[in-house]
Amino acid sequence: MKIIIAGAGVGGMALAALLRQRGATAELYERAPNFDHSGYMLGLYPVGARVFHGLDLMDDFVAASERMATYTVCNGHGEEIHTYELGPMLDQFGYSGGIMRGELLALLRQRCADVPLHFGTSVTDFDDSGEQVTVQLSDGTQNTCDLLVGADGIHSGIRQKLFGDDAPDHETGWGCWVWIVRNTSRPATAVREHWGAGRFLGVYPIKGGLGVVAAGPSRTVGPEAVGRDGRKVKEHFSALGPSVSDLVDALPDDLGGTFWWKLSDHRSKSWAKGRVALLGDSACAFLPTAGVGASIALESAAVLDDELGRTDACFLAGALARYEERRKARAEAFQADSRKLASMMMIESVGMSWGRDQLMKFYTLDMLAKTIAQSLAKPI
Ligand SMILES: Cc1cc2nc3c(=O)[nH]c(=O)nc-3n(C[C@H](O)[C@H](O)[C@H](O)COP(=O)(O)OP(=O)(O)OC[C@H]3O[C@@H](n4cnc5c(N)ncnc54)[C@H](O)[C@@H]3O)c2cc1C
Repeated sequence: MKIIIAGAGVGGMALAALLRQRGATAELYERAPNFDHSGYMLGLYPVGARVFHGLDLMDDFVAASERMATYTVCNGHGEEIHTYELGPMLDQFGYSGGIMRGELLALLRQRCADVPLHFGTSVTDFDDSGEQVTVQLSDGTQNTCDLLVGADGIHSGIRQKLFGDDAPDHETGWGCWVWIVRNTSRPATAVREHWGAGRFLGVYPIKGGLGVVAAGPSRTVGPEAVGRDGRKVKEHFSALGPSVSDLVDALPDDLGGTFWWKLSDHRSKSWAKGRVALLGDSACAFLPTAGVGASIALESAAVLDDELGRTDACFLAGALARYEERRKARAEAFQADSRKLASMMMIESVGMSWGRDQLMKFYTLDMLAKTIAQSLAKPI
């Protein structure tokens, strides 16, 4: 069976590595020119990270990432509301670590170095004849395969072609700026979030530094409000108090190297049709609030590979139906957790924010992310 994967992101690269491991024929097309821009940081729970065991990449992942040991929620004045020890969960299920997206992709590439990967080439269209899929590419050429996997992210063109505008994106009206702080004296393994009114700032460990996510309403702190003036962004987040000033100061005044990520997600009505399957964010995209999108993309890649490993090109329909059955409800339950967290984090009213802070004193980790906590013990 020949498989074309559109998108060499977390899901696409993990699938390529898994397929390569059992000798299946795959080919990757990636719109970006290379992996050089390392993007943003990803925190990986054992949900997804355990896929590295099967690829014999766990030691490399541990070496390239920073362990997440504690999770602290502070209020909008920098006062600690609650610190959660992640140790009990990790001791039971495995390692959790933070890594730059580009470094994660480079790790996965080690396990599929000889799988053709065409950078700077997008899948622009496809035609599924029922016997095979003909894929149109942005360089004007075409290629054919038995299965096309759309691992092309939240704004998936493959999903749109398969199902049209199946559902509107779930919009929060918020977005975030992301930057990296190196050479900091802050604790290396502490995840720390500041939940204010109309502003959120999170700090996430990576090897040799910290990733910072600063989120707020698009109309207040998005590019349409501040342009590329980093001083306005700094002013907005400085209101979280002196405990974040070292992080806020590290943001370049011209916002150089940082992006504005719109905080929205999407749920595809189906994960496969004919000889085309969706993987990762293209099937079910995530707000970064629960930090699970990449984990789910990894887990889905493992399940898709598992189903493909027990069929051939003639009986693809059954395999893809089982893939969807094993993945869709689970991914959507995680997505519901990330939406619930978003509704707690993204509050603009000062009064509601105060009420939320009082509740957070009594919230356990299980209550915050119920599905995530329970799912680790469930079969996939
Ligand atoms: C700021 C931020 C922080 C996040 N933090 C976390 C976190 O801590 N933990 C976590 O688990 N998740 C996190 N996520 C979510 C996570 O990044 C995604 O869920 C995950 O990357 C999904 O993987 P994917 O392979 O589906 O998509 P992506 O990794 O987005 O990859 C899609 C790829 O497809 C390519 N592409 C698009 N169209 C085409 C085309 N037509 N042809 C060829 N290539 C194409 C793109 O260039 C891209 O490389 C975060 C997301 C953001 C934005």
